Amino acid sequence: MVSHDAEGDEPHPISGDRLPQHLEKRPVILRFVKDDLSAIASVHDVMNETGGSVATCSCHGSSPWVDQWTYRASGIIVPVAPTERIAVVGAGIIGCAIAFELSGRGAAVSVFDGRSLGGGATQASAGILAPYTEALEGGPLFALTVRGLSAYDGFVRQLRAVSPMPFEYGRPGTLEIAEDAGRARELRARLSAPWAASAGLEWLDGERLEALVRCIHTGAVGALLCAVHGYIAAGPFIAAMADAAQRLGARFHLGTAVTGIDLVSSGVRVHTAGESTTADRVVLCAGSWTPAIDPLRQTAGRIRPVRGQLVRLSAPELRLRHVLWGRSCYIVPWHDGTLLVGATSEDVGFDERATAEGVRGLLTAAEGLIPDLRSATFVDVRAGLRPATVDELPILGPAGDPRIIYAAGHYRNGVLLAPVTAQLISNYILDSAIDPAFSAA
Ligand SMILES: Cc1cc2nc3c(=O)[nH]c(=O)nc-3n(C[C@H](O)[C@H](O)[C@H](O)COP(=O)(O)OP(=O)(O)OC[C@H]3O[C@@H](n4cnc5c(N)ncnc54)[C@H](O)[C@@H]3O)c2cc1C
Repeated sequence: MVSHDAEGDEPHPISGDRLPQHLEKRPVILRFVKDDLSAIASVHDVMNETGGSVATCSCHGSSPWVDQWTYRASGIIVPVAPTERIAVVGAGIIGCAIAFELSGRGAAVSVFDGRSLGGGATQASAGILAPYTEALEGGPLFALTVRGLSAYDGFVRQLRAVSPMPFEYGRPGTLEIAEDAGRARELRARLSAPWAASAGLEWLDGERLEALVRCIHTGAVGALLCAVHGYIAAGPFIAAMADAAQRLGARFHLGTAVTGIDLVSSGVRVHTAGESTTADRVVLCAGSWTPAIDPLRQTAGRIRPVRGQLVRLSAPELRLRHVLWGRSCYIVPWHDGTLLVGATSEDVGFDERATAEGVRGLLTAAEGLIPDLRSATFVDVRAGLRPATVDELPILGPAGDPRIIYAAGHYRNGVLLAPVTAQLISNYILDSAIDPAFSAA
């Protein structure tokens, strides 16, 4: 069945009354949330009952990076930990963010991908950074995504200090449009949430909305502005991360699929069609395909693909500035006058095709929100497979053997969560020693 889903337009299923049941099964995530990622002094890793785990970390108010970049700039490289050889499987947004972060901290990183950079879900992403729409109130996903957004500015600054490759990143806020009085009531209710002020929530009545978005359809009764939200161009962003990681010594093996991973006394052996590489650890970031290469089979049946399609239009004359969310679609405007309209949510297995039905539904939804889009130029359509987990939380950290580390299952929020995931995983890797008992395998 195809449903047109405004990427988190509806309250996230992890929130609300399903939460306690989920948390009972996810003690690590419970602690992660309870500690709010701020009170923990060192890296913890505890298995949770579903087989994944979350590596929690201290909040680096001033990141060790800052010093390290200074050292690097002066030509003196001081790794924060003895050099570890890390193999990263998957060059999507998660793999590239981890490669950049780990390389910046002195690890020797090799990245493998069977396709080109970001050829999986990442190339289809709309790049919206919107925790206060995606996760709404409470719950582990809320804590993680809010932290994810707050990590962005610093991460982007560090990236731009290393790579000159340009990418569009903006925090102009999002507007959730109320098409009727009922929706307006729902949206306005969020103004009394404890996080309303930190999210920069503001209600705009119909007149103010029209002043801001002249082309909005005439039936709109108002909109909820979330001022802290933003967007990033996922493709150019990961190209910059890969470039920066390589400048810091990482090696990218694109067009090189990993065919198997063995645990050996010296660490892990990562096999490709052409050769085998030894590393101390491997990070599995293969999105929806992670279960297929998981040597411990911890992710089997726990990550499944959910197809998303989005269309790209060009309508520079509309001069849109904010990300707009309607009931059936969202619209992301870019500086060059193009717009991304997303997204479908479809349970169709590993089928990465774009379909006539998907495109038709998105165009209809977009015209419902902005009638002038009827005459926009059609640019292209993209489709990708979101890696969805059973409880819609990513699987982060090791699960039984510290040589195999998971960073997969980011579902609808992989772009938003990329920097914080890279920091959590890097903190875990560089702060944790491998128990020699594991080397006996
Ligand atoms: C239509 C759509 C819109 C979206 N919009 C947003 C949004 O606005 N904001 C947001 O935060 N998120 C959004 N997402 C979700 C986001 O795109 C994903 O969560 C994110 O891209 C997942 O990244 P990843 O690196 O884990 O996986 P992927 O990008 O899928 O990367 C996995 C990589 O692993 C590689 N791989 C697989 N098997 C192997 C192997 N055996 N050997 C080597 N490499 C392998 C693949 O080739 C691929 O490149 C959207 C997704 C879709 C589909």
